[in-house]
Amino acid sequence: MRVLVVSDVHANLDALEAVLRDARTGGVLDAVWSLGDCVGYGPLPGECLSRLSDESAASVAGNHERAATGAISVDDFNPDARASALWTADRLEGDEKALLDAMPETRIEAEYFSLVHGTLRRPIWEYLYSVEAGAAHLALQQTPFGFCGHTHVPAIASLDADAPGGCDFRRLADGQSVSLDPGTKVVINPGSVGQPRDGDPRASYAVYDSETQSVTLRRVEYDIGSTQRLMEKAGLPRWLIERLSEGR
Ligand code: ZN
Repeated sequence: MRVLVVSDVHANLDALEAVLRDARTGGVLDAVWSLGDCVGYGPLPGECLSRLSDESAASVAGNHERAATGAISVDDFNPDARASALWTADRLEGDEKALLDAMPETRIEAEYFSLVHGTLRRPIWEYLYSVEAGAAHLALQQTPFGFCGHTHVPAIASLDADAPGGCDFRRLADGQSVSLDPGTKVVINPGSVGQPRDGDPRASYAVYDSETQSVTLRRVEYDIGSTQRLMEKAGLPRWLIERLSEGR
């Protein structure tokens, strides 16, 4: 089984299409898992939602899904995120919001994989960006393997009794493969499809292959200018448009 794992698509359809195309050059995809924030920031929230529905993606909700439906307040968002969340909420139809509301905050797929946007400690809010957060998440993870998003930076946290804090946390680079061993609990962040923040503007995603029991991180170029022009037309905040070319 080959599974495409995406996170933080952020209403960037060009990036999502590039990822789907690129992932399929490696073989047939048997499933798509989406780790939240499919909407928010970008210009095409409904289109990204329906593209993932076409792929029968198994999705969890992120903070931007919850903000788009009004389930959480945008008071804690920074001004640009708040402006884009209100724009997104205004643009989505009732049936699209119902789809977002129906997304759970955590789910287990293929028996061995826990999916969550942030961490299992605080599913839609916490950034898994430290040894402490990684160890806390892995202590709550009931399955050997997990995927999370939210930071927009590809990374892996593994339980490791010999590491300081009991957890090894490191970034993942383009083309890097991780072998899965049921004896070692890990959680992998595939990075962001639609708004990478690690200095590399290319869309980021991961593929799980059950035959090789491995997860591979991939980066792929997409037409950033086209997404930026749509954002300009929509009147979305300047910094959200500019950061796409910088990957931060
Ligand atoms: Zn996000």
